[in-house]
Amino acid sequence: MSPQVQSTSPERASRKLVVMKFGGTSVGTIDRIRNVARRCLAVSKAGNDVVVIVSAMSGETNRLLKMAHEFGEIPDAREMDALAATGEQVTAALTALAIHQQGGDARSLLGHQVRVLTDNAFTKARIKTIDGTKIGEVLREGRIAVVAGFQGVDDQGNITTLGRGGSDTSAVAIAAAINADVCEIYTDVDGVYTTDPNVCPLARKIKKISYEEMLELASLGAKVLQIRSVEIAMKYGVPVHVRSSFSDVEGTLVTSEEGFSSGEMEQLSVAGVAYDKNEAKLTMLGVQDQPGVVAKIFGALADGNISVDMIIQNIGTGESPQKSATDVTFTVTKADLPRAKAIIAKVGAEVGCRDVVIDDGIVKVSIVGMGMRSHAGIAARMFQILASEGINIQAISTSEIKVSCIISAKYTELAVRALHTGFGLDRKPEEENHPSSEK
Ligand code: ASP
Ligand code: MG
Repeated sequence: MSPQVQSTSPERASRKLVVMKFGGTSVGTIDRIRNVARRCLAVSKAGNDVVVIVSAMSGETNRLLKMAHEFGEIPDAREMDALAATGEQVTAALTALAIHQQGGDARSLLGHQVRVLTDNAFTKARIKTIDGTKIGEVLREGRIAVVAGFQGVDDQGNITTLGRGGSDTSAVAIAAAINADVCEIYTDVDGVYTTDPNVCPLARKIKKISYEEMLELASLGAKVLQIRSVEIAMKYGVPVHVRSSFSDVEGTLVTSEEGFSSGEMEQLSVAGVAYDKNEAKLTMLGVQDQPGVVAKIFGALADGNISVDMIIQNIGTGESPQKSATDVTFTVTKADLPRAKAIIAKVGAEVGCRDVVIDDGIVKVSIVGMGMRSHAGIAARMFQILASEGINIQAISTSEIKVSCIISAKYTELAVRALHTGFGLDRKPEEENHPSSEK
Protein backbone atom coordinates (compact mmCIF):
# COMPACT_ATOMS: atom_id res chain seq x y z
CA MET A 1 0.00 0.00 0.00
CA SER A 2 1.26 3.48 -0.72
CA PRO A 3 -1.28 5.90 0.69
CA GLN A 4 -1.41 9.35 -0.83
CA VAL A 5 -0.95 11.76 2.01
CA GLN A 6 -3.39 14.65 2.01
CA SER A 7 -3.03 16.67 5.15
CA THR A 8 -6.03 18.64 6.34
CA SER A 9 -3.81 21.56 7.38
CA PRO A 10 -5.09 22.01 10.93
CA GLU A 11 -5.39 25.67 11.83
CA ARG A 12 -4.26 25.27 15.44
CA ALA A 13 -1.10 23.53 16.49
CA SER A 14 -2.87 21.71 19.32
CA ARG A 15 -5.56 20.46 16.97
CA LYS A 16 -5.07 16.76 16.43
CA LEU A 17 -6.27 14.52 13.67
CA VAL A 18 -7.69 11.48 15.44
CA VAL A 19 -8.87 8.24 13.84
CA MET A 20 -11.27 6.33 16.13
CA LYS A 21 -12.19 2.79 15.12
CA PHE A 22 -15.06 0.93 16.78
CA GLY A 23 -15.40 -2.85 16.57
CA GLY A 24 -18.56 -4.92 16.20
CA THR A 25 -19.35 -5.17 19.91
CA SER A 26 -18.91 -1.41 20.32
CA VAL A 27 -21.58 -0.73 17.66
CA GLY A 28 -23.59 -3.88 18.45
CA THR A 29 -26.80 -2.14 19.56
CA ILE A 30 -28.52 1.22 19.03
CA ASP A 31 -27.54 2.24 22.56
CA ARG A 32 -23.93 1.38 21.92
CA ILE A 33 -23.97 3.41 18.71
CA ARG A 34 -25.21 6.32 20.83
CA ASN A 35 -22.26 5.75 23.13
CA VAL A 36 -19.89 5.77 20.13
CA ALA A 37 -21.40 9.06 18.95
CA ARG A 38 -20.91 10.57 22.44
CA ARG A 39 -17.27 9.56 22.52
CA CYS A 40 -16.57 10.90 19.03
CA LEU A 41 -18.31 14.18 19.77
CA ALA A 42 -16.32 14.62 22.98
CA VAL A 43 -13.05 14.28 21.07
CA SER A 44 -14.30 16.60 18.34
CA LYS A 45 -15.53 19.22 20.82
CA ALA A 46 -12.17 19.16 22.55
CA GLY A 47 -10.89 20.75 19.34
CA ASN A 48 -9.77 17.84 17.18
CA ASP A 49 -10.54 16.58 13.69
CA VAL A 50 -12.22 13.19 14.01
CA VAL A 51 -12.45 10.35 11.51
CA VAL A 52 -14.49 7.39 12.73
CA ILE A 53 -14.15 3.91 11.24
CA VAL A 54 -16.85 1.39 12.07
CA SER A 55 -17.24 -2.38 11.85
CA ALA A 56 -20.55 -4.07 11.24
CA MET A 57 -22.73 -4.81 14.30
CA SER A 58 -21.33 -7.91 16.03
CA GLY A 59 -22.64 -11.08 14.40
CA GLU A 60 -23.84 -9.24 11.31
CA THR A 61 -21.03 -10.27 8.94
CA ASN A 62 -21.54 -13.91 9.96
CA ARG A 63 -25.27 -13.60 9.41
CA LEU A 64 -24.77 -12.15 5.92
CA LEU A 65 -22.22 -14.76 4.88
CA LYS A 66 -24.44 -17.54 6.16
CA MET A 67 -27.25 -16.32 3.91
CA ALA A 68 -24.91 -16.37 0.92
CA HIS A 69 -24.15 -20.00 1.67
CA GLU A 70 -27.84 -20.83 1.25
CA PHE A 71 -27.09 -20.47 -2.48
CA GLY A 72 -24.29 -22.96 -2.75
CA GLU A 73 -21.23 -24.17 -0.98
CA ILE A 74 -18.86 -21.77 -2.71
CA PRO A 75 -20.83 -18.62 -3.49
CA ASP A 76 -19.44 -16.18 -6.05
CA ALA A 77 -16.77 -14.09 -4.31
CA ARG A 78 -17.71 -10.80 -5.95
CA GLU A 79 -21.28 -11.09 -4.73
CA MET A 80 -20.09 -12.19 -1.28
CA ASP A 81 -18.25 -8.90 -0.97
CA ALA A 82 -21.19 -6.87 -2.27
CA LEU A 83 -23.24 -8.55 0.45
CA ALA A 84 -20.74 -8.48 3.33
CA ALA A 85 -19.97 -4.79 2.81
CA THR A 86 -23.56 -3.86 3.67
CA GLY A 87 -22.90 -4.56 7.36
CA GLU A 88 -20.54 -1.60 7.61
CA GLN A 89 -22.76 0.59 5.43
CA VAL A 90 -25.50 0.22 8.05
CA THR A 91 -23.33 1.15 11.04
CA ALA A 92 -21.65 4.06 9.23
CA ALA A 93 -25.02 5.64 8.43
CA LEU A 94 -26.43 4.93 11.91
CA THR A 95 -23.36 6.41 13.60
CA ALA A 96 -23.67 9.58 11.51
CA LEU A 97 -27.37 9.79 12.47
CA ALA A 98 -26.52 9.32 16.15
CA ILE A 99 -24.01 12.17 15.94
CA HIS A 100 -26.65 14.38 14.31
CA GLN A 101 -29.13 13.58 17.07
CA GLN A 102 -26.61 14.66 19.68
CA GLY A 103 -26.16 18.02 18.00
CA GLY A 104 -23.04 17.25 16.00
CA ASP A 105 -22.42 17.14 12.30
CA ALA A 106 -21.20 14.05 10.52
CA ARG A 107 -21.15 12.46 7.12
CA SER A 108 -20.86 8.75 6.35
CA LEU A 109 -18.54 7.57 3.59
CA LEU A 110 -18.33 4.12 1.99
CA GLY A 111 -15.11 2.57 0.74
CA HIS A 112 -15.67 3.66 -2.84
CA GLN A 113 -16.57 7.20 -1.76
CA VAL A 114 -13.34 7.65 0.17
CA ARG A 115 -11.66 5.70 -2.52
CA VAL A 116 -9.99 2.89 -0.69
CA LEU A 117 -8.57 1.34 -3.84
CA THR A 118 -7.78 -2.38 -3.56
CA ASP A 119 -6.78 -5.23 -5.82
CA ASN A 120 -9.58 -7.52 -7.00
CA ALA A 121 -8.91 -10.45 -4.68
CA PHE A 122 -12.51 -10.59 -3.48
CA THR A 123 -13.03 -11.52 0.21
CA LYS A 124 -9.34 -10.89 0.95
CA ALA A 125 -8.45 -7.79 -1.02
CA ARG A 126 -5.31 -5.78 -0.31
CA ILE A 127 -5.25 -1.99 -0.22
CA LYS A 128 -3.29 -0.27 -2.98
CA THR A 129 -3.93 3.42 -2.30
CA ILE A 130 -6.23 5.57 -0.23
CA ASP A 131 -7.25 9.01 -1.37
CA GLY A 132 -7.64 11.33 1.61
CA THR A 133 -9.30 14.14 -0.39
CA LYS A 134 -12.90 13.29 0.39
CA ILE A 135 -12.23 12.81 4.11
CA GLY A 136 -10.33 16.11 4.11
CA GLU A 137 -13.33 17.87 2.55
CA VAL A 138 -15.72 16.53 5.17
CA LEU A 139 -13.37 17.63 7.97
CA ARG A 140 -12.90 21.09 6.51
CA GLU A 141 -16.66 21.52 6.45
CA GLY A 142 -16.49 21.06 10.22
CA ARG A 143 -17.95 17.58 10.19
CA ILE A 144 -16.96 14.24 11.63
CA ALA A 145 -16.19 11.73 8.85
CA VAL A 146 -17.67 8.29 9.52
CA VAL A 147 -16.09 5.69 7.24
CA ALA A 148 -17.34 2.15 6.69
CA GLY A 149 -14.47 -0.19 7.55
CA PHE A 150 -13.60 -3.53 5.93
CA GLN A 151 -14.52 -2.40 2.41
CA GLY A 152 -12.86 -0.97 -0.64
CA VAL A 153 -13.26 -0.78 -4.37
CA ASP A 154 -11.16 -2.26 -7.18
CA ASP A 155 -10.14 -0.36 -10.30
CA GLN A 156 -13.21 -1.70 -12.12
CA GLY A 157 -15.52 -0.22 -9.50
CA ASN A 158 -16.36 -3.56 -7.86
CA ILE A 159 -16.91 -3.59 -4.10
CA THR A 160 -14.23 -5.56 -2.28
CA THR A 161 -13.61 -6.55 1.36
CA LEU A 162 -10.32 -6.89 3.21
CA GLY A 163 -10.80 -10.25 4.94
CA ARG A 164 -12.34 -11.00 8.32
CA GLY A 165 -11.43 -8.48 10.99
CA GLY A 166 -10.40 -6.12 8.19
CA SER A 167 -11.81 -2.92 9.64
CA ASP A 168 -8.72 -2.62 11.88
CA THR A 169 -6.69 -2.59 8.69
CA SER A 170 -9.02 0.03 7.18
CA ALA A 171 -8.53 2.23 10.23
CA VAL A 172 -4.75 2.06 10.33
CA ALA A 173 -4.41 2.44 6.55
CA ILE A 174 -6.69 5.48 6.56
CA ALA A 175 -4.77 6.92 9.52
CA ALA A 176 -1.56 6.49 7.52
CA ALA A 177 -3.06 8.02 4.39
CA ILE A 178 -4.33 11.18 6.11
CA ASN A 179 -1.31 11.44 8.38
CA ALA A 180 -3.36 11.14 11.56
CA ASP A 181 -1.74 11.81 14.91
CA VAL A 182 -3.12 8.60 16.39
CA CYS A 183 -5.31 5.64 15.48
CA GLU A 184 -7.46 4.62 18.42
CA ILE A 185 -8.88 1.11 18.23
CA TYR A 186 -11.91 0.86 20.53
CA THR A 187 -12.82 -2.70 21.38
CA ASP A 188 -14.43 -4.85 24.06
CA VAL A 189 -11.25 -5.42 26.06
CA ASP A 190 -9.16 -2.66 27.57
CA GLY A 191 -5.84 -3.49 25.94
CA VAL A 192 -3.22 -6.11 25.19
CA TYR A 193 -2.17 -8.31 28.11
CA THR A 194 1.18 -9.80 29.08
CA THR A 195 -0.37 -13.20 28.49
CA ASP A 196 -3.78 -14.81 28.07
CA PRO A 197 -5.73 -13.80 31.21
CA ASN A 198 -7.79 -16.99 30.89
CA VAL A 199 -4.65 -19.03 31.49
CA CYS A 200 -2.87 -16.73 33.89
CA PRO A 201 -5.01 -14.73 36.31
CA LEU A 202 -2.05 -12.48 37.10
CA ALA A 203 -1.75 -11.25 33.49
CA ARG A 204 -1.26 -7.52 33.37
CA LYS A 205 -2.28 -4.91 30.84
CA ILE A 206 0.68 -3.71 28.78
CA LYS A 207 0.89 0.10 28.75
CA LYS A 208 3.22 0.39 25.80
CA ILE A 209 4.53 -2.14 23.29
CA SER A 210 6.60 -1.87 20.12
CA TYR A 211 5.25 -2.89 16.72
CA GLU A 212 7.87 -5.64 16.54
CA GLU A 213 6.85 -7.12 19.88
CA MET A 214 3.19 -6.91 18.96
CA LEU A 215 3.84 -8.81 15.72
CA GLU A 216 5.77 -11.51 17.59
CA LEU A 217 3.01 -11.74 20.18
CA ALA A 218 0.49 -12.26 17.38
CA SER A 219 -1.37 -14.99 19.23
CA LEU A 220 -2.07 -12.58 22.11
CA GLY A 221 -2.56 -9.52 19.96
CA ALA A 222 -4.69 -11.15 17.30
CA LYS A 223 -7.57 -11.34 19.75
CA VAL A 224 -7.70 -7.55 19.91
CA LEU A 225 -6.60 -6.37 16.49
CA GLN A 226 -5.94 -7.78 13.07
CA ILE A 227 -2.21 -8.39 12.82
CA ARG A 228 -2.10 -7.06 9.27
CA SER A 229 -3.00 -3.66 10.67
CA VAL A 230 0.10 -3.73 12.89
CA GLU A 231 2.29 -4.32 9.83
CA ILE A 232 0.80 -1.24 8.19
CA ALA A 233 1.13 0.79 11.39
CA MET A 234 4.79 -0.19 11.60
CA LYS A 235 5.47 0.61 7.96
CA TYR A 236 3.96 4.10 8.20
CA GLY A 237 4.72 4.81 11.85
CA VAL A 238 1.10 5.19 12.95
CA PRO A 239 0.75 5.13 16.77
CA VAL A 240 -2.07 2.73 17.62
CA HIS A 241 -3.93 2.95 20.91
CA VAL A 242 -5.97 -0.17 21.74
CA ARG A 243 -8.59 0.65 24.37
CA SER A 244 -12.04 -0.15 25.65
CA SER A 245 -15.10 1.55 24.23
CA PHE A 246 -16.85 1.05 27.57
CA SER A 247 -14.44 2.87 29.86
CA ASP A 248 -12.07 5.81 29.83
CA VAL A 249 -9.02 3.97 31.12
CA GLU A 250 -5.89 4.15 29.02
CA GLY A 251 -5.35 1.04 26.95
CA THR A 252 -2.19 -0.25 25.27
CA LEU A 253 -0.13 2.00 23.03
CA VAL A 254 1.49 0.19 20.11
CA THR A 255 4.30 2.34 18.84
CA SER A 256 7.78 2.47 17.34
CA GLU A 257 10.87 1.85 19.41
CA GLU A 258 11.58 5.57 19.28
CA GLY A 259 8.44 6.00 21.35
CA PHE A 260 10.24 4.44 24.32
CA SER A 261 12.70 6.14 26.57
CA SER A 262 15.82 4.00 26.93
CA GLY A 263 15.02 3.29 30.56
CA GLU A 264 11.59 1.99 29.65
CA MET A 265 12.98 -0.35 27.05
CA GLU A 266 15.54 -1.96 29.24
CA GLN A 267 13.36 -2.24 32.28
CA LEU A 268 11.68 -5.39 31.15
CA SER A 269 13.59 -7.96 29.18
CA VAL A 270 10.38 -9.85 28.43
CA ALA A 271 7.18 -8.04 27.42
CA GLY A 272 4.85 -11.01 27.16
CA VAL A 273 4.37 -14.77 27.13
CA ALA A 274 2.41 -16.28 24.24
CA TYR A 275 1.34 -19.82 23.45
CA ASP A 276 0.12 -21.49 20.33
CA LYS A 277 -1.66 -24.84 20.38
CA ASN A 278 -2.16 -24.79 16.67
CA GLU A 279 0.94 -26.69 15.61
CA ALA A 280 1.81 -30.33 15.15
CA LYS A 281 5.28 -31.87 15.09
CA LEU A 282 6.57 -34.36 12.51
CA THR A 283 9.84 -36.24 12.78
CA MET A 284 11.29 -38.07 9.78
CA LEU A 285 13.60 -40.79 11.05
CA GLY A 286 16.73 -41.93 9.24
CA VAL A 287 16.73 -39.73 6.16
CA GLN A 288 19.95 -39.59 4.12
CA ASP A 289 22.45 -37.03 5.39
CA GLN A 290 23.37 -35.64 1.97
CA PRO A 291 23.20 -32.36 0.12
CA GLY A 292 19.76 -31.73 -1.36
CA VAL A 293 17.74 -33.91 0.98
CA VAL A 294 16.11 -31.21 3.09
CA ALA A 295 15.77 -29.09 -0.04
CA LYS A 296 13.69 -31.92 -1.50
CA ILE A 297 11.57 -32.40 1.65
CA PHE A 298 10.76 -28.74 2.20
CA GLY A 299 10.49 -28.05 -1.52
CA ALA A 300 7.71 -30.65 -1.69
CA LEU A 301 5.96 -29.08 1.30
CA ALA A 302 6.29 -25.60 -0.22
CA ASP A 303 4.86 -26.87 -3.51
CA GLY A 304 1.92 -28.13 -1.47
CA ASN A 305 1.53 -24.61 -0.05
CA ILE A 306 2.29 -25.78 3.47
CA SER A 307 4.19 -23.34 5.60
CA VAL A 308 6.60 -24.81 8.08
CA ASP A 309 7.46 -23.11 11.37
CA MET A 310 10.34 -24.76 13.25
CA ILE A 311 12.91 -27.02 11.59
CA ILE A 312 15.51 -29.11 13.39
CA GLN A 313 18.00 -31.43 11.82
CA ASN A 314 20.28 -33.64 13.84
CA ILE A 315 23.87 -34.48 13.01
CA GLY A 316 24.35 -37.51 10.80
CA THR A 317 25.12 -40.88 12.30
CA GLY A 318 26.36 -43.84 10.34
CA GLU A 319 29.48 -45.71 9.40
CA SER A 320 30.41 -43.64 6.33
CA PRO A 321 29.38 -40.27 4.93
CA GLN A 322 27.55 -42.07 2.10
CA LYS A 323 25.47 -44.19 4.44
CA SER A 324 25.03 -41.53 7.09
CA ALA A 325 21.46 -40.91 8.25
CA THR A 326 19.81 -38.21 10.30
CA ASP A 327 16.44 -37.20 11.78
CA VAL A 328 14.54 -34.13 10.64
CA THR A 329 11.86 -32.59 12.86
CA PHE A 330 9.54 -29.77 11.84
CA THR A 331 6.20 -28.24 12.76
CA VAL A 332 3.18 -27.29 10.62
CA THR A 333 -0.28 -26.04 11.57
CA LYS A 334 -2.70 -28.72 12.70
CA ALA A 335 -4.95 -27.82 9.76
CA ASP A 336 -2.14 -28.65 7.33
CA LEU A 337 -1.16 -31.89 9.08
CA PRO A 338 -3.14 -34.34 6.93
CA ARG A 339 -1.73 -32.87 3.71
CA ALA A 340 1.77 -32.65 5.17
CA LYS A 341 1.57 -36.34 6.12
CA ALA A 342 0.65 -37.31 2.58
CA ILE A 343 3.46 -35.26 1.07
CA ILE A 344 6.01 -36.62 3.53
CA ALA A 345 4.97 -40.21 2.85
CA LYS A 346 5.79 -39.66 -0.81
CA VAL A 347 8.99 -37.67 -0.52
CA GLY A 348 10.15 -39.76 2.47
CA ALA A 349 10.39 -42.84 0.30
CA GLU A 350 12.78 -41.00 -2.02
CA VAL A 351 15.16 -39.90 0.76
CA GLY A 352 15.35 -43.15 2.68
CA CYS A 353 13.07 -42.12 5.54
CA ARG A 354 12.59 -45.12 7.83
CA ASP A 355 9.55 -43.90 9.73
CA VAL A 356 7.58 -40.74 10.52
CA VAL A 357 6.59 -39.89 14.10
CA ILE A 358 3.74 -37.45 14.50
CA ASP A 359 2.80 -35.57 17.64
CA ASP A 360 -0.14 -33.19 17.67
CA GLY A 361 -0.26 -32.94 21.46
CA ILE A 362 2.23 -30.09 21.59
CA VAL A 363 2.20 -26.39 22.35
CA LYS A 364 4.64 -23.66 21.41
CA VAL A 365 5.32 -21.28 24.30
CA SER A 366 7.18 -18.09 23.49
CA ILE A 367 8.68 -15.20 25.40
CA VAL A 368 8.97 -11.91 23.52
CA GLY A 369 10.74 -8.67 24.34
CA MET A 370 12.94 -6.01 22.81
CA GLY A 371 15.02 -6.01 25.97
CA MET A 372 16.40 -9.42 24.96
CA ARG A 373 18.74 -7.68 22.57
CA SER A 374 20.57 -6.07 25.45
CA HIS A 375 20.15 -8.76 28.11
CA ALA A 376 22.18 -11.95 27.87
CA GLY A 377 20.92 -15.24 29.24
CA ILE A 378 17.20 -14.78 28.64
CA ALA A 379 16.90 -18.08 26.76
CA ALA A 380 18.87 -19.90 29.46
CA ARG A 381 16.55 -18.43 32.08
CA MET A 382 13.54 -19.69 30.13
CA PHE A 383 14.99 -23.21 29.97
CA GLN A 384 15.71 -23.13 33.72
CA ILE A 385 12.17 -22.06 34.54
CA LEU A 386 10.70 -24.88 32.44
CA ALA A 387 13.17 -27.38 33.91
CA SER A 388 12.30 -26.39 37.46
CA GLU A 389 8.69 -27.34 36.68
CA GLY A 390 9.86 -30.69 35.29
CA ILE A 391 8.84 -29.75 31.75
CA ASN A 392 10.79 -31.33 28.92
CA ILE A 393 11.69 -29.14 25.95
CA GLN A 394 11.26 -30.87 22.59
CA ALA A 395 12.40 -28.14 20.22
CA ILE A 396 13.64 -24.57 20.42
CA SER A 397 13.73 -21.65 18.03
CA THR A 398 14.87 -18.09 18.52
CA SER A 399 14.76 -14.72 16.84
CA GLU A 400 16.28 -11.45 17.95
CA ILE A 401 13.38 -10.66 20.26
CA LYS A 402 11.73 -14.06 20.81
CA VAL A 403 12.49 -17.52 22.19
CA SER A 404 10.02 -20.36 21.54
CA CYS A 405 9.95 -23.86 22.99
CA ILE A 406 7.84 -26.81 21.95
CA ILE A 407 6.58 -28.73 24.96
CA SER A 408 3.81 -31.22 25.67
CA ALA A 409 0.42 -29.48 25.45
CA LYS A 410 -0.61 -30.79 28.86
CA TYR A 411 1.89 -28.39 30.46
CA THR A 412 0.57 -25.25 28.73
CA GLU A 413 -0.88 -23.56 31.79
CA LEU A 414 1.95 -24.55 34.08
CA ALA A 415 4.57 -23.28 31.63
CA VAL A 416 2.81 -20.00 30.87
CA ARG A 417 2.28 -19.19 34.55
CA ALA A 418 5.82 -20.16 35.55
CA LEU A 419 7.35 -18.04 32.77
CA HIS A 420 5.04 -15.14 33.57
CA THR A 421 6.11 -15.21 37.21
CA GLY A 422 9.74 -16.01 36.44
CA PHE A 423 10.17 -13.00 34.18
CA GLY A 424 8.55 -10.64 36.67
CA LEU A 425 5.37 -10.01 34.71
CA ASP A 426 2.81 -10.85 37.41
CA ARG A 427 0.39 -8.12 38.33
CA LYS A 428 0.76 -6.82 41.87
CA PRO A 429 -2.25 -7.73 44.00
CA GLU A 430 -3.22 -4.05 44.41
CA GLU A 431 -3.22 -3.36 40.65
CA GLU A 432 -6.59 -3.28 38.99
CA ASN A 433 -7.45 -5.58 36.14
CA HIS A 434 -10.37 -5.77 33.75
CA PRO A 435 -9.31 -8.34 31.21
CA SER A 436 -12.70 -9.88 30.55
CA SER A 437 -14.57 -8.92 27.45
CA GLU A 438 -18.07 -7.46 27.70
CA LYS A 439 -19.58 -9.45 24.88
N1 ASP B 1 -17.25 -6.95 9.90
C1 ASP B 1 -16.05 -7.57 9.45
C2 ASP B 1 -15.87 -8.90 10.16
O1 ASP B 1 -16.67 -9.28 10.98
C3 ASP B 1 -14.85 -6.71 9.61
C4 ASP B 1 -14.51 -6.33 11.03
O2 ASP B 1 -15.36 -6.37 11.92
O3 ASP B 1 -13.38 -5.97 11.27
O4 ASP B 1 -14.95 -9.61 9.88
MG1 MG C 1 -12.33 -6.89 15.06
